Amino acid sequence: PLPVVAVVGRPNVGKSTLVNRILGRREAVVEDVPGVTRDRVTYEASWRGRRFTLVDTGGWDPDATGMALRIAEHAQIAAELADVILFVVDATVGITDSDEAVSGVLRRSGKPIVLAANKVDDQRAELEANALWSLGLGEPHPVSALHGRASGDLLDVVLDAL
Ligand code: GDP
Ligand code: MG
Repeated sequence: PLPVVAVVGRPNVGKSTLVNRILGRREAVVEDVPGVTRDRVTYEASWRGRRFTLVDTGGWDPDATGMALRIAEHAQIAAELADVILFVVDATVGITDSDEAVSGVLRRSGKPIVLAANKVDDQRAELEANALWSLGLGEPHPVSALHGRASGDLLDVVLDAL
């Protein structure tokens, strides 16, 4: 089986945009993970000749009650199936309570975590990414999933962690 990279984070931080960026237009859906809900969708991806399974997480209703708890639960499931966790935070918003909750779950999983500071669309926004050091997960890697800025550098870091 291919190594698994799970993309985790609270809703709206840009996880699916980042997944599309990593896949490129020609990649197709391989399968849904058997036995789990549509909250996790798996794709086959490759970078620099290395193939891996990419898991997009999400599907939460942002208006649901108890959402923070559910996000943390989903993060835990994703962490369990992952070899490397790609934790996405919106650098333009900064750290929210949900980000803190997910961060705690991921840290306890003991899995390697790559912290992506998304929505860093220009150089000025790189300063905002530095605030994410306080999550205690190491270096925040600035990226713009929307524009593709530094996405190759991020993938290099992810594959180094595999
Ligand atoms: P998800 O809920 O974490 O999967 O987030 P989505 O991928 O659905 O993105 C949520 C919103 O953020 C969408 O409107 C995206 O266009 C936007 N978005 C995602 N990545 C970026 C980025 O790098 N820069 C900016 N400015 N917006 C982004
Ligand atoms: Mg999504």
